[in-house]
Amino acid sequence: MRKNLVAGNWKMNMTYQDGLALVSEITNMVADEATGSSVEVVLCPPFPFLHSVGKLLPAGGPIHLGAQNCHQKESGAYTGEVSARMLQSVGVEYVILGHSERRQYFHEDDALLSQKLKAALAAGLKPIFCVGETLDTREADETFSHLEKQLKDGLFHLSNEEFDQVTIAYEPIWAIGTGKTATSAQAQEVHAFIREQVARAYDAAAAQNTTILYGGSANAQNARELFSQPDVDGGLIGGAALKSRDFTEIIKSF
Ligand code: PGA
Repeated sequence: MRKNLVAGNWKMNMTYQDGLALVSEITNMVADEATGSSVEVVLCPPFPFLHSVGKLLPAGGPIHLGAQNCHQKESGAYTGEVSARMLQSVGVEYVILGHSERRQYFHEDDALLSQKLKAALAAGLKPIFCVGETLDTREADETFSHLEKQLKDGLFHLSNEEFDQVTIAYEPIWAIGTGKTATSAQAQEVHAFIREQVARAYDAAAAQNTTILYGGSANAQNARELFSQPDVDGGLIGGAALKSRDFTEIIKSF
């Protein structure tokens, strides 16, 4: 079901101690300010912190636990990897897949991501599937064809029931960690396009029910304007998710 959602992607930042301190601050601020029922919050810390972070999140509250990646196989001899089922067994509910940093630095392509999506869904996780274009692609006027391909090859092989579990994140690569945010009009234009692609691949109801997040230098100053767009349902937040006050401000920006 479509909802207002803010997910914090910590990436490879924080120590265990700093991470737990951050989570305590966030849970206190969210409780104090009664940011309430209308927003779902997801914290995506690094793997070694997941279980402990999960323990700090009040059961039944607005804050949920997410991971940043998972392996495509169920189990086996894959030294150093983490399966979807392992994540589920420590209380993880969401998993980010297809982040541009995974695509770029770890060579994850749409074929691999399709397998990861299947593995995550089979373990009962809810994927947050990321798409987005580089600056070159945008300047060449190929943003829409690029996104269309990423969605088609990476995501739209899922059945209707599987797709129901997926949140999409639009993250223009030129905006990630650069301080350059897409304008609210640029974000809205792409989000509307993504929703239209969902309608074509599935149906109008699926399109209306899909949660589509914006990511890329979203912060406490620009979140309200971005979230006010009709097709922007929230954000996937990197840098600003590492500061409790900024992150809480973003949560309150609907
Ligand atoms: P940023 O990262 O907010 O630091 O730009 C967003 C992301 O990569 O998910």
